[in-house]
Amino acid sequence: MNLIGSLRISVTPDCNLKCIYCHKEGYRETVSRERFTPDEIARIANIATGIGVRKIKITGGEPLLRKDIAEILRKLSELKKISVLSITTNGVFLKKFLEENPDIYLDRINVSLDTLRKEVYASIGGQDTLEEVLEGIKKAVSIGIPVEINTLVLKEKNLDEIDDIIVFANDVGCNIQFIELIETRENKEFYGDNYYPISELEKYLEKRADSLEVRRSKYDRMVYHVGNSQIVTCKAVQDPDECSGLRCKLLRITADGKLRFFMIDDDRYVFDLLGPIRRGISDEEIMEILSEAAKLSKQIRQRSTI
Ligand code: SAM
Repeated sequence: MNLIGSLRISVTPDCNLKCIYCHKEGYRETVSRERFTPDEIARIANIATGIGVRKIKITGGEPLLRKDIAEILRKLSELKKISVLSITTNGVFLKKFLEENPDIYLDRINVSLDTLRKEVYASIGGQDTLEEVLEGIKKAVSIGIPVEINTLVLKEKNLDEIDDIIVFANDVGCNIQFIELIETRENKEFYGDNYYPISELEKYLEKRADSLEVRRSKYDRMVYHVGNSQIVTCKAVQDPDECSGLRCKLLRITADGKLRFFMIDDDRYVFDLLGPIRRGISDEEIMEILSEAAKLSKQIRQRSTI
């Protein structure tokens, strides 16, 4: 079955930063502190390969805050059918993590970096840990792990820094993903002040790029080549109507063990996974839940019954 290509797993809701815009990967505060164990994460990922999953992204909260994160990554890297294992981190603990785990296997690290200015960084995340992030990026590149910087495009915070970030990426030797801001229940005011259409940035990148290429492995997205860096953009998708025709085949597991797709805040598209797994369901039953969610996601992308 080839229903879904990518699985994005949030392994903790905890984070050391308090980014004012954060969507928390669709996680909603609950009293429960239950989290999937490394074995459960590997089990779900392994079963998910049966519906076509080949790419796994580990995220959070801040995934490097989990004490067993190296064990989670090791178990996932042993899954033969997974071709791309990556992690998204704010980068603050990245250098330390890589020093402590020199043999860790990762195909890519996405490091969130919206600004190169200390005061702007602190105004977004609540503290100034910019230097640690930059060190983390350099450390990863120095040991040969490809890094992609995740930069949210924020009208009032960093529009004038786009070029500086491109130059930084080129100097260090990494790629960039420019991301459109998603509105959440909590960030409405910030969203109103800072939303900037990614299509506008794309017009600029088209002029700025040395060459352009449509990349199949990037869900047919445009890749803008600038020097040695590859730049892609990521459009916010919040409304089921906007999902039609999307090629991005992604399922996400939130830190509270729910299965969702896209960033749609709608309970019709949320499936519980943690509860049934703790009640002892079989691999076949897990597969059924994953397939149901994947089929619904596919229907929405093809604008059928919903
Ligand atoms: N703590 C990690 C980090 O900072 O990368 C992982 C979790 S964070 C929620 C994952 C990604 O989501 C980050 O790259 C962040 O920029 C992005 N993100 C968070 N809130 C967003 C929003 N409202 N709109 C678009 N992207 C957002």
